[in-house]
Formats: sequence, C-alpha cells, structure tokens
Amino acid sequence: MKKIQMVDLKGQYSKIKDAVDQSVLEVLESTAYINGPKVHEFQKNLETYQGVKHVIPCANGTDALQIAMMGLGLQPGDEVITADFTFAATVEVIALLQLTPVLVDVDPVTFNIDIEAIKKAITPKTKAIVPVHLFGMCADMESIMQIAEEHNLFVIEDNAQAIGANYTFSDGRKAKSGTIGHVASTSFFPSKNLGCYGDGGAIFTNDDDLAHTIRGIVNHGMYERYHHDVVGVNSRLDSIQAAILDIKLKNLDNYNKARQKAARAYSEAFKNIDQIITPSGKSECQGICHDCDCHVFHQYTLRILNSDRDALVQHLNDKGIPCGVYYPIPLHRQKAYLDERYNEADFKVTNQLVKEVISLPMHTELDDEQINFITTTVIEFVKA
Ligand SMILES: *Cc1c(COP(=O)(O)O)cnc(C)c1O
Repeated sequence: MKKIQMVDLKGQYSKIKDAVDQSVLEVLESTAYINGPKVHEFQKNLETYQGVKHVIPCANGTDALQIAMMGLGLQPGDEVITADFTFAATVEVIALLQLTPVLVDVDPVTFNIDIEAIKKAITPKTKAIVPVHLFGMCADMESIMQIAEEHNLFVIEDNAQAIGANYTFSDGRKAKSGTIGHVASTSFFPSKNLGCYGDGGAIFTNDDDLAHTIRGIVNHGMYERYHHDVVGVNSRLDSIQAAILDIKLKNLDNYNKARQKAARAYSEAFKNIDQIITPSGKSECQGICHDCDCHVFHQYTLRILNSDRDALVQHLNDKGIPCGVYYPIPLHRQKAYLDERYNEADFKVTNQLVKEVISLPMHTELDDEQINFITTTVIEFVKA
C-alpha cells in the first residue's frame, strides 16, 4: 500500500507535471513575473468557470477577505457576524479592520453558520454576515441572503474551502459557491481544492462598481498611475502561480469528483457505526447524492460520539494514518478574540464539536486500499 498522506500534492503534480512545467517555464522566459498575461488568462478562465462577472486575483485568501471588507466600505465599530467554528483568518481580518466580530454558533449537521443564531445576533450596528463554506459544504445561502435583504446587510462568502461546489436554491436554480453573496473570497493555498504552489487568492463579485473599487485597493489604492485615491494594500497573484492555477483549473471538477468519491467510500463504510456521525449526518443528502454537489470535501470530518477522539488520533497516528482536528478550540475562546459579551450557553454546538471532530486523509489521489485500511482501523477502535 502507498504511504497514506493527509494531502498528496506530489501524486497530483506528477499527473500534470509536463503541462505545469511548461507553463511555468513560459513565465520564466517571458520575465512578466508580476501581472503578466498568465494572470489575466487565469482570471478570465476562472470568471467563466464560476459564472461570475469579476474575479480579482490577490496574494492569499486572508487578503481576499480583508480586501472584500475594505471594498464594501465597512467602518470601525460595524458589527460583522461570522461562524465560531472556522479557521481564524475569517475573524482576524474583521478585527484587523477594527470592525467588531460577532461570533455565532454553527449547525451540528452541516458545521456551517446557524441561521437562527444569525437572526439573534443582529443589532442596529450589524453591517455584514460572513458565511464560511466549511470543509467544502455550502452554507445555507438562501436563508442567509434572505436575512441580509431584510436587514440591509452585506454578505461576504468565505469560499476558501469550497471552490467548485454548486449550491441549489429551493426553486432548483444552481449557482457556484462564491457567486451568491455580494462578494466572496477564496484561497489557493496548496492544500485547498484549487491550490497553487505557494500563496494565492481571489475575490469574486458580480457588482461592477465594487469590482472597480477592489481593483484599486489591491494595487495601493491606485485607479490612475501614482494617484492614490483610497488607502489600499499590495496584494497580487504571481504570474507563476497563475500559470500553475490555469492548468489546475481545467482539472478542478475532476479533482472535486475524486474527493467526493473518496467521501462516498468513507461514508459507506461508516454508515452503520453508531459511534460515528459522517459529514452531513445521517440525512439522505450527504452533499454527495447524484443531483447535488453542494459539498466538495475540502475535509472529510467525522464526529466521534461517546468515545475518546484524542485517543483515536493517537491510534491512527500509531498505524501510520495521518489525521487532523479542525478545529480544536472555538474562536470565541481564543485569547485574541475573547469578548465579555459572549455567553458559553450560546455556543453549545461548537463547544461540543471541538471535542468530537476528526478529519481523515482527503485528497485527489486516495485509492481503495488506503480507504479500506483507514476505515477498518477507525471502526476497530471505536467498537473496541
Ligand atoms: C485557508 C483559509 C483562509 C485563508 O487562506 P490563506 O490563503 O491561507 O490566507 C481563510 N478562510 C478559510 C475558511 C480558510 O480555510
């Protein structure tokens, strides 16, 4: 059996090596290292793929979130509601811009921001909601957009983990994640579903004026050379990374299908195990049913009930199976984001999830033998 890895970037690279190497060499020869033609080509191809009017490439997914918030003109003291159970980047940029983060609980089935909790958290100061499509599963965008409309709020989708996912509205209409809110961010960190070989990110919007504003912000607030109209940042996607991403974008749907196939095999193996809750629970749609692809499995995350999750982590590591705990501490209990307004009783789900979750190896190169070994090892442990 091939050695099991949490993410197998080498295996994936070896299959596209010739195309990637050639594309990168073209950039090296062209010397157009910054904002070269490859960046523009990738931007156009990603706009087409997403079905969105504007893609603005930038340096990483954290910048993308920050720049999206700057573009919307959010002001110090404005309240921004986001999920308590996510990677810290989401809340970090809110705090950096001196906006007020308002963390709320998540749904125990989808792990995404809880709709009732959003409603409860709205005050006259609320200006925006940041849903995170956690682990590759679309948040309940229909409800979120409805709340936003009622209260005149912006919606900024953190799409770092779900690029390529399709969200289905109740009338059957579909849209790619990251094209539903007013603006969205994504990350091309190497292990993300569309990852480059360094850092990268992008902002998506269908709003022409906002796109124009953001294009200036990423470039030192310049709309005309050496005229600085607003305070901006320097946040660019390298031409070399764009060259790599343009090759990988052509494979994105296949990559996501490979992840979904692995997820289906995992869930099938665990379906009768009482101690395990598979992603999206025991509901019929696990985000992987045939006409629904709202989950692209950035992570495959189980809840381990009535068992010792940390001992399972140890056991898997002893057997040569890497795994991860995303995330071990809720954001509202992180030192940097403590706030006396928070009440533990409002975070029942995240407080529970941090004790139960474990993410199994998930990437595009997993084979049946590896999945079999992983599921057998997990089941032996939880049943013991
Ligand atoms: C990865 C990630 C980010 C940040 O992306 P970087 O490119 O690493 O800056 C933001 N939000 C979420 C949910 C992420 O998973």
